Amino acid sequence: MVNTISLLGSTGSIGRQTLDVCREQGIKVAALTARSSIDLLEQQAREFRPQLVAVNDLEPALELARRLKGLDIEVVYGLEGLRRAASMRSSEGVVTAVVGMAALWPTMAAIEAGKRVAFANKETLVCAGELVMETAKRYGAEIIPVDSEHSAIFQCLQGSRDRGEIKKLILTCSGGPFFGLSREEVGRKTKADALRHPNWNMGEKITIDCATLMNKGLEFIEAMRLFRVTPEQVEVVIHRQSIIHSMVEFQDGAVLAQMGTPDMRLPIRYALTYPDRRKSELPELDLLKCPPLTFAPPDLEAFPCLKMAMECAQIGGTSCTVLNSANEAAVELFRQDRIAFGQIPDLVAEALDKIPNVSHPAMEEILETDRRARECVAEAVK
Ligand code: NDP
Ligand code: MG
Repeated sequence: MVNTISLLGSTGSIGRQTLDVCREQGIKVAALTARSSIDLLEQQAREFRPQLVAVNDLEPALELARRLKGLDIEVVYGLEGLRRAASMRSSEGVVTAVVGMAALWPTMAAIEAGKRVAFANKETLVCAGELVMETAKRYGAEIIPVDSEHSAIFQCLQGSRDRGEIKKLILTCSGGPFFGLSREEVGRKTKADALRHPNWNMGEKITIDCATLMNKGLEFIEAMRLFRVTPEQVEVVIHRQSIIHSMVEFQDGAVLAQMGTPDMRLPIRYALTYPDRRKSELPELDLLKCPPLTFAPPDLEAFPCLKMAMECAQIGGTSCTVLNSANEAAVELFRQDRIAFGQIPDLVAEALDKIPNVSHPAMEEILETDRRARECVAEAVK
């Protein structure tokens, strides 16, 4: 259990739910960060009284410092601010609730400071997973997943001492709002359609990723990195009800599943209280009122993003970086109404075609690939 945390991305969906858990469990907050939402950050800082708050740019930092004057809270900005928040001496744990590759540097800073990292941000594990996991090993940092599927797997693995016991990880997938449609029908969907997720209320980027099933593709690679398994050992199963959060099949044929009412506060709480389980106000899972639990294979024709992610999982190296960063760039264009929904997979495919793969990349190669993938998407839509 950690008693004090730094929360990176406190104003987002995971960030706000992490603060719910902090209120419930009496966990202190040493640092809060956001990109630019200073109104909410101010409220959070007044309530939790961290030592440090960080935003991306100087201007909002000055404004926030003016508003928090007299509260003995230091306000910092930029990458250095984020890194300081991630490596605060007084924080035992760091929650990475920033969206996208922007989380990479502060995550590495948290790892190098030997913190428990409650890992919500999946993009960094996809882009730089091998490096992140190796560095964590070197610095003795504990990596605990927050993503509900990976938390489920982590929970199912608690009794298992040897990774060789794992036969297969079964990632469940809600199927998103466009389940059952053809590729053509999916391609014509609008932003309003894509932002309507059946079972979870999340930030816009991940909600769009759930609609293309890229989210499950990123999670496929995330699972390989976190649990050190091969792509052949990961399976995706459509489970519309989001009651089983994922499963582990062991060598002896036993399959363990973690079930529960869909609520991100459960995996967040577990990542912070682990190895303990603490009481919560989460509504009980009433099995007698549950709809029938169903399972189906994913449709890789209708959802090419998942197919591409599975291919990148096989190829490894910087192909996973291209996949993620081209997707981040394409989703941003879609959010700005500059491309159609169906163009997201096309732009990712084009970047994967054009950018050569580097196996076992160093940090510089990952950053260079990230830049090239974004540039490739920008050029394609010019
Ligand atoms: P949101 O968009 O709701 O929140 C993102 C947070 O990051 C905000 O605090 C935002 O600040 C901050 N931020 C955004 N861009 C930057 C940047 N360039 N530099 C620094 N800070 C930045 O995202 P979610 O909470 O939905 O997701 C966060 C991460 O968790 C993602 O990686 C997602 O995949 C993962 N995740 C989310 C789940 C969910 O249920 N939401 C479930 C599983 C995983 P500001 O408000 O100022 O913009
Ligand atoms: Mg998930």
